[in-house]
Amino acid sequence: MTVTVIHTPSGGPAPVLGPSPDRVEDLASYLARGGYRTQVEPEELLARVEAAGLRGHGGAGFPTAVKLRAVRDGAGTPVVVANGEEGEPGSVKDRWLLRARPHLVLDGLLRAARITGADRAYVYLSDHAAERSVRAALAEREPGLAVEVVRTEPAYVAGEESAVVRRIDGGPALPTAKPPRVFERGVGGAPTLVANVETLARTALLAASTGRSGAAQTVLLTLSGGRGAPVLTERRYDTTLRQLCATHRRDEPSAVLMGGLFGGLLPLTVLDLPLERSRLAEAGTGLGCGAIRFLGPDECPVSVAADAVDHLTAESSRQCGVCVSGTRALRDTLAALAEGRCDADGLANLARWAQGLPGRGACALLDAAARLASTLVSGFPELVDDHRRAPCQACAATPPEAGRRLRVPVPMPVATAAASAVANLARPCASAGVG
Ligand code: SF4
Repeated sequence: MTVTVIHTPSGGPAPVLGPSPDRVEDLASYLARGGYRTQVEPEELLARVEAAGLRGHGGAGFPTAVKLRAVRDGAGTPVVVANGEEGEPGSVKDRWLLRARPHLVLDGLLRAARITGADRAYVYLSDHAAERSVRAALAEREPGLAVEVVRTEPAYVAGEESAVVRRIDGGPALPTAKPPRVFERGVGGAPTLVANVETLARTALLAASTGRSGAAQTVLLTLSGGRGAPVLTERRYDTTLRQLCATHRRDEPSAVLMGGLFGGLLPLTVLDLPLERSRLAEAGTGLGCGAIRFLGPDECPVSVAADAVDHLTAESSRQCGVCVSGTRALRDTLAALAEGRCDADGLANLARWAQGLPGRGACALLDAAARLASTLVSGFPELVDDHRRAPCQACAATPPEAGRRLRVPVPMPVATAAASAVANLARPCASAGVG
């Protein structure tokens, strides 16, 4: 079975991967690295978060300081949530982080609670190994605040912030219409910070730093595609896609699937772009959750788009009529294209839907499906045209598999003795949905 390799760049900072990414970091190790101990006033930490330009690492990339302030200044006593639900099939970094460095995430969660004035905190996840690791960390050290672990079923939309709130409140993990946004009215009606676990880890690192810090200058990435093993790495934002590709494989890819399924499919003209948000936005894409697939010679952008939209269609929560019909129409047309039986009308429809569907669902799933279609049509016009007549060899050999080929396994860090012991104690209640 393919395993995901953890790659620490030589010479570059990797503050979140840390010095031993293949091991579970217990309390003693975390304290020895200065964790939990640094006394920094909430206002000072908020200023550091703002000065560092820290943004959310879950996908949307919203400025963290703005979110923290909005929750702090909301009506009522705030609630904070560490969101570790990782629905993107090509991303593993959040589950690795919860499994390997649970104290770093909890430290960030507690500091976010201090900044916002929250009196309750939650860790929200679906991964069993991550849950065991978090429970072990909570048993090692009293957090000084009520922290509850809430388990959800894994699903593409379960990590969307309104779905997180709905699940914590005892409902299904499905997105709701906005407004209100969760920072206005979230868990139990309280202003709620739903923060990705990597964002919280970086908040904790900023608390432990003095002066200029590298804590917000890097990003965790999951690289996959081709025949090479997937890679979990941490790189600076000035790293180019070409340099990343070299980390992962030796041959040139045929295309790039960016930001999980949110950044669309891009041609090789983007390979010299750095990971900086503004540069990627200019190119019409984004880093999202940091999952990047470099398509191998045996992968065609047409069948990859068909596969990804097939996955999104299956994962739609079917609450919005436009999402049900829109994802289905995109899926069927892309599947027809991959099979060489899409006519000119089908292609015109694809282009029209790709333009008209974004922004019409209650969450961003429909936008992701539309972007996959629009970037395929705009970035690979000759390839698309060729597929109207007959499928290419790669498409003929790889029918859509509802995203299965896009999945990446999570690297399993080696548990310390202390974490294993507590994990075993925690196991009997691990099947509880909430608690
Ligand atoms: S856009 Fe789709 S996935 Fe999102 S809430 Fe609506 S139906 Fe569900």
